[in-house]
Amino acid sequence: MKGLLRKLLFALGVWLTGWTGCNLQNEYSQGPVMNEPDYEKLREKMVREQIQARGVKDPDVLAAMRKVPRHKFVPENMRRYAYDDCPLPIGYGQTISQPYIVAFMTEQLRVRPGMRVLEIGTGSGYQAAVLAEMGANIYTIEIIPELAEQARAVLLELGYTNVHVKVGDGYKGWPEHAPYDGIIVTCAPESIPQALIDQLKQGGRMVIPVGPTWDQELVVVEKENDKISCTEVLPVRFVPMVPGESTNNESSVTER
Ligand code: SAH
Repeated sequence: MKGLLRKLLFALGVWLTGWTGCNLQNEYSQGPVMNEPDYEKLREKMVREQIQARGVKDPDVLAAMRKVPRHKFVPENMRRYAYDDCPLPIGYGQTISQPYIVAFMTEQLRVRPGMRVLEIGTGSGYQAAVLAEMGANIYTIEIIPELAEQARAVLLELGYTNVHVKVGDGYKGWPEHAPYDGIIVTCAPESIPQALIDQLKQGGRMVIPVGPTWDQELVVVEKENDKISCTEVLPVRFVPMVPGESTNNESSVTER
């Protein structure tokens, strides 16, 4: 049974978000879970061994990764793997990104307190929580209503009132709150959606995986005096960004 779970997780890891080598060998993946793991200790280890060791330096990013309880954003039966070096399934065929990828993208975004950030692909809400922990105001769009609802509930429970979740099609962005100082996309389109470029502030940065399912590059887009420059920073593997009907069911965690 355990072997099967390993194989399944490995197969998922190969398929999904930003995989760079999944290691489910921590002490909590062996045998039955007796006690609640020491999540704080696991987070510290995650930051040191997976994130700092790979070169992420921004102290504010590291502090946020140390603070946000990642295990709260994964399904209960996945909690023991929450701080492992891999993406994990969150239901509906979607994944929470590998911790390193979350940290790397956040560092690339250059988050500062008070910044207005648009996220496409709320998923579990974890990336949004990391950004919120750094003092940014987040507008995040998710196409699967059930995931948006779950994310809203967890973010509210953890007290992140500076995150606004909307169900909708990320290709259209969220024009009502534009322009954004930063845009972060956590699903991969084949090319950069024009609406997102339009909604980026002059001097703003967008971090976005671009390309077909098996071959994406993480791209940093900078906009200066309407001039767009793109830099490829890392090969990645995200779930595809799917086009959908734009619904208009928006609300903020602060409004609930
Ligand atoms: N940032 C997330 C990971 C998201 S996985 C986290 O921290 O957990 C990518 C998410 O993008 C999925 O939940 C998927 O449903 C969503 N998605 C895919 N296409 C989309 C689109 N066109 N608009 C909005 N969300 C989309």
